Amino acid sequence: MYEMTRRAFVATAAILASTAKPNLGFAQAPAQETQPPAAAPAPAAPAPEPTPPTPPAGTAGQFKQPPLPFQEGDLMPFIGPRTVALHYRRHHASYYNNLNIITKDTKYAAMNLEQVVVEGNKDTDKRFFNNAGQALNHELYWEMLKPGGAKAPSGRLAQLIYDNFGSLADLKTKMVTSASNVFGSGWTWLEQSGSKLSIVNTLGGDSPLTSGKNGLLGVDVWEHAYYLDYENRRPEHVKALLDNLVNWDVVASRLKA
Ligand code: MN
Repeated sequence: MYEMTRRAFVATAAILASTAKPNLGFAQAPAQETQPPAAAPAPAAPAPEPTPPTPPAGTAGQFKQPPLPFQEGDLMPFIGPRTVALHYRRHHASYYNNLNIITKDTKYAAMNLEQVVVEGNKDTDKRFFNNAGQALNHELYWEMLKPGGAKAPSGRLAQLIYDNFGSLADLKTKMVTSASNVFGSGWTWLEQSGSKLSIVNTLGGDSPLTSGKNGLLGVDVWEHAYYLDYENRRPEHVKALLDNLVNWDVVASRLKA
């Protein structure tokens, strides 16, 4: 029988420890051997994270990205600031820039995002639907992650979760499983229709809106939402988000009759 030496145990434990948590450190400094050994090094302060540039303003138009309702570092340690910065400033921003370009001189230019989603869904050209859907989905997403608010549902929302899933823990478990089954890019939602709550997956920029349902809570499972922090460990990310970041007051505020 193999008996692990103490050295092997320590090495193994170090490896396990290094892989057990989200990788929230971003680009590491180059290897230390490039440093001249004679230099008396003060303990180096970590280099500030490079900030992704804000993209060009794009074509002026009516579709405007709302401000992020929190600071980019506020979701630490569950989602890192670089993920938030790239996600908000590049991915989310691009949908508004695209919309302002492609809707110019079309019927969509006079619509709000919800209308573009509904009308665009009937169009053979899916660019309108895709970009408006993603713009809107992310507005709901950022708002739901706004720090503060209740850490667990209460009132009518708590009752509906109990009636439909048995417990909040069961709801979360089912959402994590559902999210792991999205093949490619999409969203996992808690949707409402009257007193019925369901978990559904949508692909791309689709949402419960297109089937006339009310999206209460949408988890972005495009890789850009988690890859820097969790690599390919999507279920781990979704669990961390549901356990730690959801503002249940915002979710409850979306309930309809
Ligand atoms: Mn996204």
